[in-house]
Amino acid sequence: MQRRELLSMAAAAATAASLPRWAWSATLKQRELFPVGVASGAPTADGFVLWTRLLDGPVPGTVAADTPRVPLPESLTVRWEVAEDEAFRRIVRAGQAEARAALGHAVHLEVSGLQPGRWYFYRFMHGDAVTPTARTRSAPAADALPERARFAFVSCQRWEQGHYAGYRHLLGEDLDLILFLGDYIYEYAMPAKPPSPPLVRHHTLPAARTLADFRDRYALYRSDPLLQAAHRACPWIVTWDDHEVQNDYAGLHGSGAADDFLRRRGAAYQAFYENMPLRASVLTSGIDGLGTLDGLRIHERHAWGRLLRFHALDTRQYRDRQACRPPGGAPLAAVTPQACPELLDPARSMLGARQERWVEEGLAQDARAGTRWSVLAQQTIFARRNYQPLPEERYHASTWDGYPAARQRLLDAVRGAAPRNTVILGGDIHQNYVCRVLADFADPRSPVIGSEFCGTSIASASGTPQARAQAIADHNPHVLLARADRRGYAVADVTPQRWTTTLRVVDDVTRPDSGIATLARFVVDDGVAGPQAA
Ligand code: FE
Ligand code: CA
Repeated sequence: MQRRELLSMAAAAATAASLPRWAWSATLKQRELFPVGVASGAPTADGFVLWTRLLDGPVPGTVAADTPRVPLPESLTVRWEVAEDEAFRRIVRAGQAEARAALGHAVHLEVSGLQPGRWYFYRFMHGDAVTPTARTRSAPAADALPERARFAFVSCQRWEQGHYAGYRHLLGEDLDLILFLGDYIYEYAMPAKPPSPPLVRHHTLPAARTLADFRDRYALYRSDPLLQAAHRACPWIVTWDDHEVQNDYAGLHGSGAADDFLRRRGAAYQAFYENMPLRASVLTSGIDGLGTLDGLRIHERHAWGRLLRFHALDTRQYRDRQACRPPGGAPLAAVTPQACPELLDPARSMLGARQERWVEEGLAQDARAGTRWSVLAQQTIFARRNYQPLPEERYHASTWDGYPAARQRLLDAVRGAAPRNTVILGGDIHQNYVCRVLADFADPRSPVIGSEFCGTSIASASGTPQARAQAIADHNPHVLLARADRRGYAVADVTPQRWTTTLRVVDDVTRPDSGIATLARFVVDDGVAGPQAA
């Protein structure tokens, strides 16, 4: 299928409210067609995206790799309903949508024209098969200043390394929204020899390279009942990191042969669209000619009235190669400005020039509009982590430390635009970090201009011993907390006067029924940049 056809098909499928009866497909009988559940996302003041994907037969990866699979027909008609009540007595929208093979039998529906700031219920049906009822909501009206918003931010859910007990506890957090900051899937095959500690779950999938591989990987992850329940609880805003494509990739640069990598990236991007509650408008950008999707515009702003605006960034798709990374090879584990002067090259970007300007414009809009909290929702840790005590310097090559000039431009943009409060959220490193954001990390006496909360992983292991994380905190005084040893999620409780981040950690990631505890709590008061222990 040509890229252009794919785009127009996706756009038509996402916005068509209903099909004439004659256009419905034949109905498949007595089959379980929704084993990967439902999701909603990208909430606006008048609607949201609803998502599901039809799948026939056993979930791939959980059965022998050669188990025969019966393909679904080219096209299937799915019915859907949105109601004000859980019993579907007051249905406010309903229709039919096509699930087509070219888009992995995924359904994306953009529902609009609803009331601001309220909850809705939805479900999909085909023949006798009905999805469980799920809940979602619209954002508050653009000019409203809600008294409170509660959302969680999560990242890094490597399926084989842990159970998703965090999501079970998240259901009790009374959330409006879940923000997913990357590494929704991991592309790896099972390791040839068992690692230590041993893996918690086992699948049969090969390392993901093709569109079919990536589709299977999402199906495996989405078959998890706790993850499904978290998607049924509220809308999600999703971004990606590297493992949705390939470990440590940077823009057009990956490991292995360049054209293999670009084909893989295109397949992975298409599978990401197919499996996430995204608007069809994300499909409009990119360069042509790589076979499948050559770009997805996933960076987007999401307003929550005047209380919050999320600037969801994409630090993977447009970034320059890590400093001193050999073409086709892996990035260095750590870089120093002495051994790798390229590190300091001001031309290197994390966001790409266009997205850099877009963030700057957005922060200026927030300042003008009086947005209370400007949230930079991005993938990885932002604050400086010098691995050595000064005057020595040694940095991670793939976090913002690997792109110091680009980080300084973003800091300058925050300082220049001066939105009322700036909070940076991240993931990727499988560790909890709480940091003061300094106007210039090279100058420890420069003003604090924001607050950073980098959340730990839901399930992915951390290779960093806690003693090392603590040593980094000790000689980077803007780092207020560094914990490498716990898995979990973070909850932000936001009012016009105060932002509160609670770091929640599971007792035992190897158990789906694990307990939960609070690791730490930090607040940010309106007008006072920087987190304070609560
Ligand atoms: Fe990760
Ligand atoms: Ca990552």
